[in-house]
Amino acid sequence: MCIVMLWLVLCSVYLVIVPVVTANGRLPNNTLPLHYDLHLEATGLGLHDYTYRGNVSIRIAIVSDTNEVVLHNVGNTLKSICLRRCRDGEEISHQLLESEPASELLRIRTDRILRRADDQVITLTIVFHNTLGKDRMGFYRTQYRGAKRIPMAVATTHFQPSYARLAFPCFDEPGFKTTFQITIVANGSHLVASNAPIATVTWLQDGHKAVRFERTPPMQTYLVTFLIANFTSVHTASPSGVEIGILAPPKDKKSLQFSLQAATTLLSSLEEYTGQSLGLQKLDHVAIPQFGNAMENWGLVAYDEQFLVLSAKAHRLQRAQAVLTIGHETAHQLFGNLVGPAWWSYLWLSEGFATYFELLLGADAYPDLLPLEESFAVRHMHPALMADAYEQHPLTVEPLSANTPEIETLFDTITYSKAGCILRMINCSIGEAAFQAGVQNYLEQHRNGIVTPEDLYASFFVQQRKDTPTVEQMFRSWVDKPGYPVVTVERLNGSFVRFRQQRYHNQEVTTQDITSRWFIPITYYTNSSLGQYEYQPAFWMKETDQELVIQLEMNTRDVLVVNPRQIGFYRVEYDERGWNSIVDNLTTLPSIMQAKLIDDAFVLARAGLVGYELCLEMLQELATSPDPVPWLIAMAEENIGYLQRVLQSAEFDRFLTGFVGEMFDLAGNVGRTLLQSQALDVAYDWWSRLAASFIESKRESSIRPRACLPTPVQEVVQALVSPDDHVRERLFARLKCLPKQSNEPSVLLLALNRIRAANLLTPGKLFAVLESLIKSDPGRFLPPTVQFLSSIPPEEAGPVADRFQRLLNLIVHEVTDRRQAAQVRKLMVKNSSILPANFLPHASTVMTSTISWHMKQVPKLREFVHDSHMASIYEREGHQ
Ligand SMILES: [Zn+2]
Repeated sequence: MCIVMLWLVLCSVYLVIVPVVTANGRLPNNTLPLHYDLHLEATGLGLHDYTYRGNVSIRIAIVSDTNEVVLHNVGNTLKSICLRRCRDGEEISHQLLESEPASELLRIRTDRILRRADDQVITLTIVFHNTLGKDRMGFYRTQYRGAKRIPMAVATTHFQPSYARLAFPCFDEPGFKTTFQITIVANGSHLVASNAPIATVTWLQDGHKAVRFERTPPMQTYLVTFLIANFTSVHTASPSGVEIGILAPPKDKKSLQFSLQAATTLLSSLEEYTGQSLGLQKLDHVAIPQFGNAMENWGLVAYDEQFLVLSAKAHRLQRAQAVLTIGHETAHQLFGNLVGPAWWSYLWLSEGFATYFELLLGADAYPDLLPLEESFAVRHMHPALMADAYEQHPLTVEPLSANTPEIETLFDTITYSKAGCILRMINCSIGEAAFQAGVQNYLEQHRNGIVTPEDLYASFFVQQRKDTPTVEQMFRSWVDKPGYPVVTVERLNGSFVRFRQQRYHNQEVTTQDITSRWFIPITYYTNSSLGQYEYQPAFWMKETDQELVIQLEMNTRDVLVVNPRQIGFYRVEYDERGWNSIVDNLTTLPSIMQAKLIDDAFVLARAGLVGYELCLEMLQELATSPDPVPWLIAMAEENIGYLQRVLQSAEFDRFLTGFVGEMFDLAGNVGRTLLQSQALDVAYDWWSRLAASFIESKRESSIRPRACLPTPVQEVVQALVSPDDHVRERLFARLKCLPKQSNEPSVLLLALNRIRAANLLTPGKLFAVLESLIKSDPGRFLPPTVQFLSSIPPEEAGPVADRFQRLLNLIVHEVTDRRQAAQVRKLMVKNSSILPANFLPHASTVMTSTISWHMKQVPKLREFVHDSHMASIYEREGHQ
């Protein structure tokens, strides 16, 4: 039943946005939602009754004649469905076609044709009920410990990307922006919050209250949120008049001032930079127990507690992470919420800008905590270049079906960090003023709307020289295809230099794609160039240029570093003379350049393009004056981690122990910047691992760190399924510092089997966990992962075949011996039905070439380590 009277009052067309709709499980485009009235009653919270009742009324425009209304619904039990024409309240009879669980669609067939001209706007009212789950999806429940450790229930939401449909029937696609008027009936003692400010509170006879919120601006379903909890809050007003609030459990009230201050400062900087107001009267940030990460719900952003609750003594690392996370989510209020991607294909538009601005805003407000250039290099450039070396996806992913597990895989390093790096590269290429004007224009033109990448490109008006690509060409070159180039630099006579470009691949032999080329901004440093080409490009290599000879500003004795400030998203390879002059001058260069050179050298060595001797020489140069930036890059798992694993040399391990000791000495007990704190964490991690390898060699059994005690299976299970990345990282650190002969890998295997048997993670999420496990220490975690994957039938991995393939690809590049290669080959044969036809031959070639490289190179490298007396560097300096 629906109420006709309310009907006529509410029926006015508010906003029409025609969504971009294609096939592949997407909603049909003949009806368009305009407004939701959502009424939810969850009065049992706190009484162990987690059911809730709902009533949603959706005003829908008929865009073209149809006899169907199709929307999303998962798990809501429908009690009644009513359709009425708005104009006169005429009831439209209909039948409910079966809900389609696989497609998550709810299909309503009307008995007569709905006419665009005659019916115009109809209202669909659905009464339903449901129960708050515990899976951190939809409208769900969690808890914290209150006074006397009594569990206190919290009801909250997580809707991105496609979980609003789990909470109420809706048109759950990001291309639909509608207004929402939400009413929540809850227990009188609870704090109730949602996207918009409270309009009215009505006390009901049974001690409950009905909290009605103001109408929201037009927004996507994935940003809708509501919260019911025994929470407290602190508030302040931003200079632009937005009421900023931090909401948290009462015990944390004294620890919310830092985040309140940060949230206010970061919002002000964002509004100032973009020239755009938030468009909301309030912006709350809420600390949700066990939330894991953060989510940019418009006007009520959700965070894991660690990002908002900081005592006065909170470590600088925690404060830096809080600033970055609050900055990221605040940036989303404009990039993603105010101006949102029309489909998940363009997710990079919101995540790229949020990533870019988290550091820009953070470094501006907290320069001591977050040095911009260095933090960008370590946090985004290094991981994005690493991730994009594997066959992954371009930033714009088209076509993209409506399959939720597939959409979820896009929330990755490419979409976040690579997109952030590309935005920074474009910024430096066109200049800050032109970039800022373009960004302002983009937000202004599309305020409250939805966008595709073309809308962004069209927002920049830049007068370019003839030999420079247009802004659209710059973007498209890096956005529409995966991967990036390696630029080869060859010094010719005098100051002439030959530049070549080719797609970078992890292994020399895998270069099937040798045709991709990019518009590459070439920046450089020489002793004579006086810093003028370090950020803005001196010239561009075009997509048509495979090779180019250019005269640079330099003398023959100058050192030449290309892409010195890590602005360009590419790697650089030099000729022998170039590398030699770099090694000789390494310690005289700024640390950001050292980091780039070290990273490129290690990665090119791994791809077989230069010898590892070069990396070892660079390490020796850095050995006695480590700076956190090059040190962090050098110590990455993909760089020194890989070398240490394949070398298995006690001499090299002794060198590393000294190298790690230098970092402890330098950063001291309390790090000062994010990078120093990170360096200390990494140093501790390495120290534990090196200690473990010493135990294996039974030389020093007393240095086993206390954090390395065996871990019970149930604890491993809990850490693996935790949404909190830090919990998992702590587990990995514990597992990898144990001696290899301990039974931890089998504990891991037991835990993985238990997770699978009890369905504690979806296959997609499980594969993501395995990916992070391998990345953290392939030598240790690869064997149990392969063993575990061998027990999974192809039907189970099939629905997330992309993710499975990505995991296998990672494994293939980490295989170092014949026995492992045989196991991996067996695994691939078993799953050949869900892998592309060329996957197995390609993977086999990669593994064979890596193994033969090992057999040839490893003995030579061990000899180099021995002959160069690397291990004795610290002994000469008086270190142990
Ligand atoms: Zn984000």
